[in-house]
Amino acid sequence: MELLIYNEEEMNRLGILIAKHLKGDEIIYLSGELGAGKTTLVRGIMRGLNYQDKVTSPTFTLMNLYSSHPPVFHFDFYRLGPGEIEELGLQDYLGRGGISMIEWPEIAGEELPREALQIKIELMADDYDRERRVIITGQGEKYCRLIEELMSDAHFGN
Ligand code: ADP
Ligand code: MG
Repeated sequence: MELLIYNEEEMNRLGILIAKHLKGDEIIYLSGELGAGKTTLVRGIMRGLNYQDKVTSPTFTLMNLYSSHPPVFHFDFYRLGPGEIEELGLQDYLGRGGISMIEWPEIAGEELPREALQIKIELMADDYDRERRVIITGQGEKYCRLIEELMSDAHFGN
């Protein structure tokens, strides 16, 4: 699934749309360079889950826990050092109920489950105020189904 997102408000709306289709035990990978809009999209998803508190980038904390319903584990692996991935005890979070959203999943590499919703956000130009191309793919049956649901519910883009 591919969309053009023209501004922060549209990214927010995409997050709300995604949230509507989450059942509560998903893994979402968010890729894209610094400033692409990964945290902005997480913020939109949290809004869609009716979470009222602040959603900040977990760049330095590695993980923020949001006590939404379902709970959300928001990771950012940008500053993950060698060996730190083991210390995090990822197995305690992933696949145990709750939604995990992971920025910079490629830094953790092989440690992460393959089956997930993968969201790639690309800048269209060097201008950070411009549109983004958002490419959503799913690995595994559950996530392919999720994308089908998203596509039949998407009222913007194509
Ligand atoms: P990341 O988490 O990928 O590093 P952020 O979400 O923190 O990125 O920052 C994205 C920034 O880009 C925000 O300041 C946001 O307002 C801005 N922005 C401008 N245009 C867009 C767009 N089309 N989609 C998403 N964010 C945008
Ligand atoms: Mg971020």
